[in-house]
Parts: sequence; C-alpha cells; structure tokens
Amino acid sequence: MNSSIQQEGIGMTSLRTRERLVQRLIDQGIQQIAVLEAIRTTPRHLFIEEALAHRAYEDVSLPIGFDQTISQPYIVARMTEIVLSALAKGGSLEKANVLELGTGCGYQTTILAQLVKRVYSIERISALLQKTKERLSQLGINNIQLKCADGRYGWPQHAPFDAIITTAAAPSIPKALVEQLAEGGVIVIPVGNSQRQELQVCRKLNGKVEVESVEPVVFVPLLEGVVR
Ligand code: SAH
Repeated sequence: MNSSIQQEGIGMTSLRTRERLVQRLIDQGIQQIAVLEAIRTTPRHLFIEEALAHRAYEDVSLPIGFDQTISQPYIVARMTEIVLSALAKGGSLEKANVLELGTGCGYQTTILAQLVKRVYSIERISALLQKTKERLSQLGINNIQLKCADGRYGWPQHAPFDAIITTAAAPSIPKALVEQLAEGGVIVIPVGNSQRQELQVCRKLNGKVEVESVEPVVFVPLLEGVVR
C-alpha cells in the first residue's frame, strides 16, 4: 500500500488509537497475527466520510452514504480469519483467488487484498463503486478487480474461487456461489433476514457441501439488481 497515503491524517487517528482497536480485537478472540497486522496498518479513516473520521478506529459500523455501512472491524477480522484458516488448510493461501460480494467502501476488500493473491469484488451501486475505485487506486492497491453487478450470480469468468466472502445478508446461500467455489474452498456469508441473521461457513469437500453456523450478525441485505 502507498505509505504516504497510509499515514495521511495520522495526527487525528494516531497509531495509539489503532493499537487500542487491535487490542480490543485480540480481547474478542481474534488471533491471527496477519489479520491483526492488516487491521493495524489499514487507514480505516480514509474509507469513511471526513465528518466521521474521528470514529474510524472504534469497533463499530458507520454510515458510508447510499444507505450502506462500513462493517465493524471485529466482523471484518472474524470473516478474514475464517477465510485465511481455510486457505492455509488447503495450502493455497499465496495463490488464492477470493471473490467478495458487497464491495461498499472497499475496507474488507483492502484487508483481504493484503493477504491473498487476488480479490474480485462485486458491488451493485454504481456510484458507490466509482468512489471506491478511486480510493483503492489512490491507496496503490492493484491486486483487486471490481465490477458493478448483482453479486448473487458470482463472477463465472474468474471461477473457481478458493474463497467467497459476502458482506450483505442473503436469505440463503446463492446457488451460483456454491457452483463457483473451488473444491476445498470456503464461503463465508451472513444468512437471514432483517430480524435475525447468522454468519455461516460453507465448505465444499469431495463435491459435498457442509454448512456450519458461527455466530449471530447484523448486515445490510443482499439485494437484487444493480443501481446505475
Ligand atoms: N464490505 C464493506 C461493507 C459493505 S456493506 C466493508 O468493508 O465495510 C454491503 C454492500 O453490499 C453494500 O455496499 C451494498 O450495496 C452491497 N450489496 C447488496 N446487495 C448486493 C448484490 N446483490 N450484489 C453486490 N453488492 C451488493
């Protein structure tokens, strides 16, 4: 990542504030050093509106416009940890291709991009994606490919994916995602409605699919179609 941009605004959002966030994640059970390090060095204040930048290193979700939110750091860390564990087990961490649905402001995308080979990310709101594209190129991240589409259909041209991560809640795991998942791969996805959601982990082993429920979560819904 471009280090001068990474340090931008460092006064207001000092290293100490970031360390406090990392300590909080450790207290909540996040263990992987690589994940904690990515959270520590990623300038979250550059992913939200300036008026909210002073809250960037609190462990909360925050509005990013377009009725959407940046995810809570804890949940970003948790989902990333699940993906990395699965990739490490499959021995494919360095060469892993990951698909993300729900780019939003690109924070989760940026964390993942520092840890795997390539991230493909899909967002349905075109204007939001445009802003995010500019942000990610300013940050100097170049192993990410973005597109505006309805992510429920995946991205067949780049399949199979070693991991698929969804940052919006689906009523059930979309079939296309299971089809586009590599053997031994993992899907991490919030499943449920506006009342109740749980984080599910879906593994494909010997062609069979196993689903495990991890913990209750709160995400915006995975919606149909695109907004141009
Ligand atoms: N990943 C973000 C959080 C994004 S919030 C972060 O790091 O903070 C969820 C995003 O999913 C929103 O931007 C929303 O527009 C998008 N989304 C919802 N339904 C979608 C769909 N079907 N396809 C692609 N993106 C979708």
